[in-house]
Amino acid sequence: MAYTITLIPGDGIGPEVTAAAVRVLTATGLDFVWETVLAGASAIGEEGSALPPRVLESVRRNKVALKGPTETPVGTGHRSVNVDLRKQLDLYANLRPVKTLPGIKSRFDGVDLVVVRENTEDLYSGLEHVVVPGVVESIKIITEKASTRIARYAFDYARTHGRQKVMAVHKANIMKLSDGLFLDCCRAVAKGYPEITYDEMIVDNTCMQLVLDPTRFDVLLLENLYGDIVSDLCAGFIGGLGLAPGANIGEEIAIFEAVHGSAPDIAGKNLANPMALILSSAMMLDHLGETAAARRVREAVYAVLAEGKKLTRDLGGTAGTTEIAEAIASRVEKR
Ligand code: ATP
Repeated sequence: MAYTITLIPGDGIGPEVTAAAVRVLTATGLDFVWETVLAGASAIGEEGSALPPRVLESVRRNKVALKGPTETPVGTGHRSVNVDLRKQLDLYANLRPVKTLPGIKSRFDGVDLVVVRENTEDLYSGLEHVVVPGVVESIKIITEKASTRIARYAFDYARTHGRQKVMAVHKANIMKLSDGLFLDCCRAVAKGYPEITYDEMIVDNTCMQLVLDPTRFDVLLLENLYGDIVSDLCAGFIGGLGLAPGANIGEEIAIFEAVHGSAPDIAGKNLANPMALILSSAMMLDHLGETAAARRVREAVYAVLAEGKKLTRDLGGTAGTTEIAEAIASRVEKR
């Protein structure tokens, strides 16, 4: 059976890391048909829009996409393609597993947590306006529907992946109504999962507890903005952005992409670490039900890391993006 997948190369290092991921996925021997569409700054040049309608059409049709990072201008310019994609396709869950990798020197061993971030509302609703000159209002939207849905996703994920604890992260001591509603929904959902320990922690304390000892955390359940910040913080536990995979998941559609951005400082130089997107591809294989192939890809990445001979510059090595892709792909082929 062939899988038709929408491929969004994206901007900056995107085309390099997506090419690397495609190389590794091809090495699994599974049959992929790639439908390549442009989004981001590269699409503005060629198609006049950062998110052309055919990108959405393609993802809606194929249900699964593999995506490189897209550039988001700071302060001005086009809206974030990521935010737009997540909202338009209702990809309500952002999933970021954070697991200690072999051979990578970091402050902690044995980190194995998952960040589940709500993806569609909160301060990302883009509702901002100038009240009077010098005063701006930015509106935080929290709904019962979205909070219940993300809580259910986190608990279902915990149940199906044999995880023990879900921790809802909040600032309900200050945002009593919005974060209060989020917590009410989490508590109500938790009642349906008696085998999973449910706990709550204030976001600032969570950051401190995480940097003191991340190994005590299991599944973290967060609203959009806290989830964004905490997941980058967690990427630091496992060797940085070059190694942190992710997925955006809806009822029917899923887009797999690394946590990192377009990294313009190293784009086009064959310096980018493709492992984060390759590990995101392994998540895609799991999603497709190809768990054996997913395992082969992960084990190949772990083997290259453990050997430590071929590493990109962010991990202290001198190998290029394409070399890493080949090293991983050849191991996948042998397994
Ligand atoms: P965005 O706003 O698009 O998220 P950003 O500037 O916040 O972008 P990144 O583009 O992820 O963040 O880059 C942050 C730093 O991490 C940069 O110095 C970049 O070179 C580095 N970096 C990011 N991804 C990788 C990667 N895959 N391999 C090596 N270095 C990376």
